[in-house]
Amino acid sequence: DHLSNKIAAGEVVERPASVVKELVENAIDAKSTRIEIELEEGGLSSIRILDNGSGIEPEDCELAFSRHATSKIKDEQDLFQIRTMGFRGEALPSIASVSHVDMKTGTGNGPGTAMKIVNGRVQQLERANARKGTEITVSALFYNTPARLKHMKTIHTELGNISDVVNRLALGHPHISFRLKHNGKEMLHTNGNGNLLQVIAAVYGMSTAKQMVAVSGQSLDYSIEGFVVKPEVTRASRNYMSFFMNGRYIKNYAVQKALVQAYHTLLPIGRYPIAVLSITMDPSIIDVNVHPSKLEARLSKEPELTALVEDAVKQVLRQLKL
Ligand code: ADP
Ligand code: MG
Repeated sequence: DHLSNKIAAGEVVERPASVVKELVENAIDAKSTRIEIELEEGGLSSIRILDNGSGIEPEDCELAFSRHATSKIKDEQDLFQIRTMGFRGEALPSIASVSHVDMKTGTGNGPGTAMKIVNGRVQQLERANARKGTEITVSALFYNTPARLKHMKTIHTELGNISDVVNRLALGHPHISFRLKHNGKEMLHTNGNGNLLQVIAAVYGMSTAKQMVAVSGQSLDYSIEGFVVKPEVTRASRNYMSFFMNGRYIKNYAVQKALVQAYHTLLPIGRYPIAVLSITMDPSIIDVNVHPSKLEARLSKEPELTALVEDAVKQVLRQLKL
């Protein structure tokens, strides 16, 4: 019901950036190869996400906005084998409970659907011409939760948060083309050709990308691939170390520590490397069902991964010195 959706919204959608994250993750799960995000006023007045993924069947559209309706998890066993970005079935009903939502979706077979939800209630649900994919527009975000609205920072800050989210999604998915626009101005564009270094260039700039070297490695359970920066290029912030586990941006202190350890004596105090590491593993050894934001994960074989990261990065840095 509307009340429990609003309560859940408190956990899932804290800010415009969390709305963008959830909607883009849905587009990724729908196997999109192109995702466009258009914002007005830092996402506070509108967020529009366009994808070319599977679309939603007309008979499933209403269901998609009801609580715990996910097409991604069928039974308890699936929870230990998560291969999708979403799995809780909470995002759409939560978002719709604190905003106005317009959706147009098509599967490429038969007519598509246009849907409008106001105040958590379906106001319009009808057949419509739609190409394959989904377009969702979220407007008047938090109009009915004044306390939350009051917590919103400046447009500039909200935009910065969204930009971080989209950058990470792009870095985690080099095979998907992302375009982010704010008030009509392009902020990010990746071409989706699978080249991670090109995504790094789009996010951090070409001159930074030129200072990055490839790293890869494999252990029994983990495989890592990505780029780390030459030791002479450092940052005063830990935020330039990104880890993607099965495509998902994850904050993991142990893995971050292993990376920094690899640079050991090479970094001045308080300086950190830039790194983008994509880590893949069987989904059964990673548990992302830890927090609604899905930003943290428990790994059943963490020491194996930290050793792999440290060794692989050390090896690259050693070769640089030769
Ligand atoms: P979850 O992602 O956890 O399944 P959501 O509330 O985010 O839950 O989405 C509910 C359902 O709506 C999804 O399981 C999916 O079937 C459908 N859906 C949402 N967004 C899209 C999209 N962009 N393309 C195709 N299907 C979508
Ligand atoms: Mg989702």
